[in-house]
Amino acid sequence: MYVISTKAMLQKAQREGYAVPAFNIHNLETLQVVVETSSEMRSPLIVAGTPGTFSYAGIGNVVAIASDLAKTYNQPLAIHLDHHEAFDDISQKVQAGVRSAMIDGSHLPFTDNVALVKKVTDYCHRYDVSVEAELGRLGGQEDDMVVDSKDALYTHPQQAHEFVTLTGIDSLAVAIGTAHGLYTATPKLDFERLAEIRSNVDIPLVLHGASGLSTEDIRRAIKLGICKVNVATELKIAFSDALKDYFSTHPDASDPRHYMVPAKAAMKEVVRKVITDCGCEGKL
Ligand SMILES: [Zn+2]
Repeated sequence: MYVISTKAMLQKAQREGYAVPAFNIHNLETLQVVVETSSEMRSPLIVAGTPGTFSYAGIGNVVAIASDLAKTYNQPLAIHLDHHEAFDDISQKVQAGVRSAMIDGSHLPFTDNVALVKKVTDYCHRYDVSVEAELGRLGGQEDDMVVDSKDALYTHPQQAHEFVTLTGIDSLAVAIGTAHGLYTATPKLDFERLAEIRSNVDIPLVLHGASGLSTEDIRRAIKLGICKVNVATELKIAFSDALKDYFSTHPDASDPRHYMVPAKAAMKEVVRKVITDCGCEGKL
């Protein structure tokens, strides 16, 4: 069984004080790079996709390719549904072989968020699927989800305890000042709030919007209870910039097997850095 849930891997991370990276993948090349590099560094791995990614790449394709890569590299991994908002969408993907899901009801009022998350969690746990949910909202943009930074609400520590108890989720995404996408100014993370959430909640905590955070901030967040770190934008930029560079010096290039080589090498560097920052090398 190579496609696993995130439950045991995040609990181990919590016990041993490191974080597992969740890399948002967008195509075959990203999948190849994250599996190959994690395997080389003996790191646990979460491969994540938004609804938009699965519409683009096809859920069956992602599950089949990730499963095959996992076997080839002897690298167990979780395929994770990032920012999914609909019960039916999640249940269909669970039936397709996914064993880790985020149900994002963070845009809903508290009681509606609880009701949706509990419904998904009850369903997922029957299939041994781990569930992440979010309380509070991150600013920024991910796919077609846009949150004005003024509307971004930080996670309330006492409410977090109530949320976890009422829903039965396995991990909690917290809003402590990170944002999706690229940072326009250096983010200031609310570490005091994170410490307070940790003292109120005993399940693994998740940090979204980690692209562009300093190594120091990531390490401090891990010390205060973050067990999963989401990375999307950094991979996309490394991939795209390397492609643009290649085409600017090879304007007639037409063979993907050639121009994907530097693009994959650029992503590999990002993956190595994130694994090192997360302290999870050798933790597989
Ligand atoms: Zn996110």
